[in-house]
Amino acid sequence: MKKLPFVTKEKVEEIVRTYPTPFHIYDEKGIRENVKAVKEAFAWNPGFKEYFAVKATPNPCLIQILKEYGCGCDCSSMTELLLSKAVGMSGNDIMFSSNDTPAEEYACAARMGAVINLDDITHIDFVEGILGRLPETMSCRYNPGGVFQMSNGIMDNPGDSKYGFTREQLFEGYRILKEKGVRNFGIHAFLASNTVTNEYYPTLAKQLFELAVELHRETGADIKFINLSGGVGIPYKPQEEPNDIKVIGEGVRRVYEEVLTAAGMGDIAIYTEMGRFMMGPYGQLVTKVIHEKHTYKEYIGVDACAVNLMRPAMYGAYHHITVLGKEEVDCDHKYDVTGSLCENNDKFAVDRMLPKIDKGDYLVIHDTGAHGHSMGYNYNGKLRSAELLLKENGSVALIRRAETARDYFATLDCLEVYDKIEM
Ligand SMILES: *Cc1c(COP(=O)(O)O)cnc(C)c1O
Repeated sequence: MKKLPFVTKEKVEEIVRTYPTPFHIYDEKGIRENVKAVKEAFAWNPGFKEYFAVKATPNPCLIQILKEYGCGCDCSSMTELLLSKAVGMSGNDIMFSSNDTPAEEYACAARMGAVINLDDITHIDFVEGILGRLPETMSCRYNPGGVFQMSNGIMDNPGDSKYGFTREQLFEGYRILKEKGVRNFGIHAFLASNTVTNEYYPTLAKQLFELAVELHRETGADIKFINLSGGVGIPYKPQEEPNDIKVIGEGVRRVYEEVLTAAGMGDIAIYTEMGRFMMGPYGQLVTKVIHEKHTYKEYIGVDACAVNLMRPAMYGAYHHITVLGKEEVDCDHKYDVTGSLCENNDKFAVDRMLPKIDKGDYLVIHDTGAHGHSMGYNYNGKLRSAELLLKENGSVALIRRAETARDYFATLDCLEVYDKIEM
């Protein structure tokens, strides 16, 4: 499918008069339509709740939109907990799915009444030590080890991942938690990332549902929810077939009835913690071409760099690029599209076929709505960009201002020196 941006060249030319490039822009209409589709896909399950993975796009304005549809937050750090609080989340609206967790973060989660999802059996004593006694509701993260594979060959390696309890630990953990007074139980697992297949959730769900039946039988634990976590992918490449959340929801419903309803456990709530699927396609990084360089290769230098979008540099991830105003022009030029970091991996694209690019062109880098701005950093003293929201009525709102050099100096003890520097 041809990937087209949700902003036009004319719109960007209008926006840059107020907000210079680079910036991430989000599409309110797309976010709303998608979250509605997610809700409908799981409407068969009365307890269903999506806990948006805050780390993907930690912007309160965007989380607020999801909250309107009943979404909660999935947090893994103190700051993410505070962000959730800032949008009015508390108690059962917050899932705390952390790992290697510092004591003060567990304490903060408990104070907010968040549901704590333990990553390891040793954390039972750790949390009890911090809180004095365990909360009534607790969840455990499961890692079956080995390889997680679906019939279409897509797979991941839980056996290599640092997360979760082993199977034996899970049974033992439930028994210990029960002895220590925990009354309501949850199961959580995240076994494959960015799965562009409708099979992932149903396959995972079947494993977890069967596990829930066994756990209940063997430990007597009252399982209230099963958390399918994140991992539902998006088509970064134009030739990929997008996931159909309706088909996914229906697939989960089928195994729910087969396994849970059949075992008399048909009142368990399904939770999800999607990040990428909720926001990824609805954010784009807009950047301006400031240089062309002709050496051993053809380079296009833009005013964004890997601090604005780390995925290509970090994972070699593909992000589609559109040259605004040249959507219909043939892609007959081969370029590396680079940022300005003193790092040769600071390339948004390598050997990418694109239309002929000229200085001053605006490029849209697609699918940056999740794990985009949020992975930003300050290497080379580069500053994180602004975040904008393209509203349903076509207007644009600033939802996070760009960092300034003064922000960078703010954590140093020479801020007063900065204020005297003449620019
Ligand atoms: C990262 C993460 C998610 C979200 O993953 P996506 O791939 O963005 O859907 C959900 N839950 C936990 C615990 C995570 O670490």
